[in-house]
Amino acid sequence: MQAVFLCSLMEKLNVFWMRRDLRLHDNHALYQALRGDCPVLVLFILDTDILDELPKDDPGLNLIYDTLETINSQLRKEGSSLLVKHGKVETVFKAIQKTYDIQTVFTNEDYEPYAIQRDQMVADLLAKSNIQFKTFTDQVIHPPQAILKSDGSPYQVFTPYMKAWRKQFDLQKLEDYPSEKHLTNLAKLDVMFPSLESFGYQRKAVDLPKLNWDESFFRDYENTRDIPSVNGTSRMSVHLRFGLISIRRLMRYSFPLSDVFVNELIWREFYMMILFHYPNVVDSAFKPQYDQIPWRNSEGEFKAWCEGKTGFPIVDAGMRQLNETGYMHNRLRMITASFLVKDLLIDWRWGEAYFAEKLLDFDLSANNGGWQWAAGTGCDAAPYFRIFNPDSQQKKFDPQMQYIKAWIPELNTPSYPKPIVDHKKAREITLAVYKAALNAN
Ligand code: FAD
Repeated sequence: MQAVFLCSLMEKLNVFWMRRDLRLHDNHALYQALRGDCPVLVLFILDTDILDELPKDDPGLNLIYDTLETINSQLRKEGSSLLVKHGKVETVFKAIQKTYDIQTVFTNEDYEPYAIQRDQMVADLLAKSNIQFKTFTDQVIHPPQAILKSDGSPYQVFTPYMKAWRKQFDLQKLEDYPSEKHLTNLAKLDVMFPSLESFGYQRKAVDLPKLNWDESFFRDYENTRDIPSVNGTSRMSVHLRFGLISIRRLMRYSFPLSDVFVNELIWREFYMMILFHYPNVVDSAFKPQYDQIPWRNSEGEFKAWCEGKTGFPIVDAGMRQLNETGYMHNRLRMITASFLVKDLLIDWRWGEAYFAEKLLDFDLSANNGGWQWAAGTGCDAAPYFRIFNPDSQQKKFDPQMQYIKAWIPELNTPSYPKPIVDHKKAREITLAVYKAALNAN
């Protein structure tokens, strides 16, 4: 028989602190909290240390808030409600300790440098009041510390990491944490769900991409994933970024169907692992000698790139898709990134920051990894002398120009710009500049 709790201010509670795991199903920390011996209060903090850096109508924040609203309605059906707080994490925890008698705070691990620091601070703060802080693996199958080389050091190359990852993975032993079956153990709580505007932000409609999740999609994935004019990728990045879907359930379903797809999920964990072990990649090249490159950094060319007006249709189509939808197909992310760095000789960090601002699926590790890969500065990167040719990329991946035409209506009219660089010359300059910078060391 499930226990029914009546939440009073005197009663001991466990807190489940929700972050990038916005779902009530198969949620590891929530499951552990619900299986504990106190009723569970679900908390979300709008962290001003993060939000102060973002625009007031940030699409990601809006997406989070839409999801929180749904979660609150689900919690209300169980006689509970979501506690939403706004402010500095430390201040919020100090305040809620005064209102509630907390036994343990449960949360899922987050491997980004800021999150690691923040969680340590919270653990220390709570320890002063004898409140436990427990963290669980949920965002990934294998946490960054789990897959190491035989000498205990982290991998720096994808293929051996992927092989070790697979060796350590057993589909039969993959856990499920059916938190959704234990919601009766939520604290009975009736708190108001505040509007986003009440905290000084602006509401904006954000469309959540529709997922490709059927068997035939996964079976076809390796043939369709590189063709931007077809709906051939899963569109799961936003869902994975915010934890709207469970990586375990996704893995259980897709593992028997597509090795290629599973490898993409392993790339995701690879870059998270790199960021965890080498947090300096946030500001510097993974390979330090690449920080010596004298970037040309033309503001005018950067603006043309951002606006999709370089005169290279495949590049411009990608940038326009990003600007208009907050998404860009992976093939185009590689082409546009390569173009910025290798054709315009602009610091990859400028492009990384622009993507971070525009992508709804923005993830620090994947974005940084993708940019350093394209710039040739990262671990397991494309060698610097391999430079994408925009025309050949277009011929190979958009031969009928369907994708390009969808995003550039004025193509072949006088209003479409002339190419801002000569690719062949730009390539030679870049090769010489990279070579000189590397030889200088
Ligand atoms: P699918 O092809 O269906 O892939 C399934 C999932 O695998 C993705 O949702 C994603 O979680 C993961 N994945 C796929 N490719 C990669 C990859 N190369 N690295 C890490 N994970 C991957 N992905 C992000 O999620 N956020 C980013 O900010 C991001 N920035 C990028 C920047 C650059 C320059 C490049 C080259 C790639 C970037 N990627 C990023 C990786 C990739 O482009 C997206 O994950 C993918 O396009 C999302 O679409 P999808 O979900 O339909 O992908």
